Amino acid sequence: MPFAYYRRLNKKQRRIYDASDEVSALPLSRPSAMRSLVHHVASALASEDRVQVERTSRALMDALCQQLDVPRARLQVRSVRPLDDWGELHGLYTPPEGRRLASIEVWMRTAQRKKVVAFRTYLRTLLHELNHHLDVQLLELEDSFHTEGFYKRESSLFKQLVNGTGL
Ligand SMILES: [Zn+2]
Repeated sequence: MPFAYYRRLNKKQRRIYDASDEVSALPLSRPSAMRSLVHHVASALASEDRVQVERTSRALMDALCQQLDVPRARLQVRSVRPLDDWGELHGLYTPPEGRRLASIEVWMRTAQRKKVVAFRTYLRTLLHELNHHLDVQLLELEDSFHTEGFYKRESSLFKQLVNGTGL
């Protein structure tokens, strides 16, 4: 069952949506090699040091892109989430264009209370934006929709990364 907005998509968009919905997992070749990187991100977040969070998150994202054999994306970790009528922005993905690398921005503090987000929430945000990147670079989709398959892939990466870490 596609999400409700499927009805508003045109034929071409529906084809992209369907292709996205078909893929439910992205197996990493060596998930255990990621464990220390994941721990580093968790400690950096606990220290509430934005520069450290950015440094460790970049290492994790680069390793993920390498294992999945896609070009890397530039990552910026920002502080307080922007707030607007539509809610809080958790992250943002900009696809590559010409010679410019793709870019990912994520925010590590909530809009209202400016609290550092929980580790699992933060990791989900990172993987969500990475998933948009993988739609473009790995699955070679012309657009990146939030489909059920998309969320399954996000969960599949999340589980592979946190399993066995105790986080
Ligand atoms: Zn998204």
